[in-house]
Amino acid sequence: MRDGEQTPGVALTTEEKLWIARKLDELGVDIIEAGSAITSKGERESIRAISAEGLNAEICSYCRIMKQDVDFALECNVDSIHLVAPVSDLHITARLKKDRETVRQMAVDITEYAKDHGLIVELSGEDASRADLTFLKSLYSDGIDAGADRICYCDTVGMLVPEKTTGIFRELSSALKAPVSVHCHDDFGLAVSNTIAALAAGAVEAHATINGIGERSGNASLEEMVMILEWLYQYDTGIKLEEIYKTSRLVSRLTGIAVAANKSLVGGNAFTHEAGIHVHGLLADTSTYEPIGPEVIGRERKIMLGKHAGKSSVTLALKELGLDVDDSQLDEILDRIKELGDHGKHVTDADLQTIAEAVLDIYRESKVKLEEFTVVSGNKVTPTASIKLNVGGKEVVEAGIGDGPVDAAISAIRKAVAGVGDIRLEEYHVDAITGGTDALVEVLVKLSKDGKIVTARGARTDIIMASVEAVLNGINHLI
Ligand code: MN
Repeated sequence: MRDGEQTPGVALTTEEKLWIARKLDELGVDIIEAGSAITSKGERESIRAISAEGLNAEICSYCRIMKQDVDFALECNVDSIHLVAPVSDLHITARLKKDRETVRQMAVDITEYAKDHGLIVELSGEDASRADLTFLKSLYSDGIDAGADRICYCDTVGMLVPEKTTGIFRELSSALKAPVSVHCHDDFGLAVSNTIAALAAGAVEAHATINGIGERSGNASLEEMVMILEWLYQYDTGIKLEEIYKTSRLVSRLTGIAVAANKSLVGGNAFTHEAGIHVHGLLADTSTYEPIGPEVIGRERKIMLGKHAGKSSVTLALKELGLDVDDSQLDEILDRIKELGDHGKHVTDADLQTIAEAVLDIYRESKVKLEEFTVVSGNKVTPTASIKLNVGGKEVVEAGIGDGPVDAAISAIRKAVAGVGDIRLEEYHVDAITGGTDALVEVLVKLSKDGKIVTARGARTDIIMASVEAVLNGINHLI
């Protein structure tokens, strides 16, 4: 939460930080770095609130190697501190204007101070990947002698590569008498690869952020790291996998940092398939084009349908929605999808559901079928509709006027079916399913006949046709 909140433009309220902390705890993370207590009064309130929440996770504050940072952390009742000492000469001399020995002494003193006050100390080397390894090891050793419980190696600007990481972590984990932790940044897109390499070479703890957020290109992403360990290495992380997607969404919503569509596992497209040969394969066995089932991380598979949609993709998408159709219904659904596709539209699950339900309605033994329909509307024109229906095998032609084209159409229909009963329109409701003037429109109607009431729907890109369809569906139900 500390490095994640250092993402440019992100600042969370106490309430928001609490939501995330609770969710991380539910997810099963071992340690939550809740913030940096020295930052501000508000930050301390947030950390204190998270500490008071009674979570299972160890609650940690970031601290520099300064006594006042530890004092502020203590005020927040945290369990531990992530005590960060700059270790590269670049940071020691250029930034801090100090020397190696001064930094070593500060790290030792503050470690002792924090231990004296009952804190768990994770002593971290900032910019460790650009530090002199001999100096780094001796600083870590002195810190451990001063009481540090764990040490952490930070690749602060993401310059490690996996092979180098392997060598360093083999050396650190065998040379040091404390557990070793890894903190990687994604400047070259290697944060997760380097983290996995470190874990394979002896590190026992890894720092990560949800969705890989953080300064610049961010940190190692928790969801990728966990799923690589669980799925590709068969290692049990203790993380509740089915909570991963929900956690990702929560963090994205609260931070306002969108997840890229093509992001592994949690991106919008990670389990979305578009028509074509892949969908044909998925229909036979979903593992043909999916490494894991979306439900493993609490997601759902999505089938995108457009103008290239084929029978297999529509069948699979309908199966996902739990809808059964016969061949003629499938043809009709496919025609309507292609109609939308030709307008450059993609058919979402909600669209498909609406289309399918409307088509399934139509194919119910229809007594009343639409043959022809015309409507005229505009400025200084009385909206007029003419309609030709097939009512129980007989052709009926009628016309109607109304307040608008939909009203005129419905009036014409009512006249045309007057022979089968007095059908009244009780309610009329229209919804654009996906937005945009060329979007699919759903019309819901409530019709009554002799005290019997039915609801029916129509779904088309044309609002008037959707209305006619809804009313005819309803009439067929009623009679
Ligand atoms: Mn960092």
